[in-house]
Amino acid sequence: MRILVVGGAGYVGSTSVEAFVEDGHHVVVYDNLTSGHAAAVVDGAKLVVGDISDGALLDLVLREQRIDAVLHCAARSLVGESMADPGLYYRTNVSGGVALLEAMRSAGTSRLVYSSTAAVYGEPRRVPIAEGDRTEPISPYGATKLAFEGAMRWFAAAHGFRAISLRYFNVAGATERNGEDHRPETHLAPLVLRVAAGEANHVQIFGQDYPTPDGTCIRDFLHVRDLASAHMLALEATDDAEPSLEVYNLGSAAGFSVREVVEAARRVTGRAIPARVVKRRLGDPPVLVASSRRARRELGWQPKHSTLDEMLSDAWNWRASHPGGYRDREAAAIEVDGQAGGEAGGPESSDPGQRPRPSATVVA
Ligand code: UDP
Repeated sequence: MRILVVGGAGYVGSTSVEAFVEDGHHVVVYDNLTSGHAAAVVDGAKLVVGDISDGALLDLVLREQRIDAVLHCAARSLVGESMADPGLYYRTNVSGGVALLEAMRSAGTSRLVYSSTAAVYGEPRRVPIAEGDRTEPISPYGATKLAFEGAMRWFAAAHGFRAISLRYFNVAGATERNGEDHRPETHLAPLVLRVAAGEANHVQIFGQDYPTPDGTCIRDFLHVRDLASAHMLALEATDDAEPSLEVYNLGSAAGFSVREVVEAARRVTGRAIPARVVKRRLGDPPVLVASSRRARRELGWQPKHSTLDEMLSDAWNWRASHPGGYRDREAAAIEVDGQAGGEAGGPESSDPGQRPRPSATVVA
């Protein structure tokens, strides 16, 4: 298959790209490198540096690379940031996404898999959450992801798109080559490992007074490798599908508490990992766990790396082999229009005023 991965230099996208290339697919990554890393793109995949709002460029890439299907992973994805700056989220996650849909329509590419989120559900009335449950997002992040799902649905009805949206929560783990390198980092698992590595004194536990067995929040963790396999199954499923938007949750249906994550990290790393309980973080529901029965039944998805120990030990090993994250490998910055590549407006910033690049450069 000839696949375009939009946002393919980020954590979730790059690990999928790696798996697709290993399986012999032709893969093109489209990313602005604002939060993604050129070094995360494996040899064997092409990298086009460009902005998701640049529909003309997307159209060109889709045609020139004769793309069969698109995996869309480019989004702003921090709840807190979205509460502070909703416009940024609407510009990137909705307007940017629609530019991609229009480019696909113009280029005649109708197969799309979307990296969505269980944040579209808001405060769940029951867990595990099923796909048909009420969607009432409680943040601009969740609202914009849901809005884009709506756009996909209408493009399916009007233009014959065959689209799949995958809703998931917390992704963890790493491959040997690719791992998590967010700057700044806000996610629990990498922050816990940062303490284990001696880069921070303690991890903060945001609240221990929730109605859960140990008082800390429960979240649904998914290994990034299992996510890559779900992405591929979904891409394949769009092949002979009728025009529609299908929605699938991806999750463990069990969930792990924040305390369990810290304890698993202690076990895996053999380090003490001091933890301090602080007050609750705004907007955190006590339990978020998704039922992925539908994905298992209809896509044939079978997660193989569901234990916290495996996710954390893979992430720990990646940290050990990449002490400076990707940044060291990016010291030899890519050349774009004669300038060092680096910060550019695009999928992750999507502020047209910050878009210095008129065109993309195929780097590899
Ligand atoms: N969390 C925490 N300390 C941290 C970061 C996160 O206790 O330093 C908690 C957070 O309150 C939530 C869970 O860990 O209950 C997962 O948060 P994360 O930001 O990793 O992912 P989210 O669920 O927000 O997507």
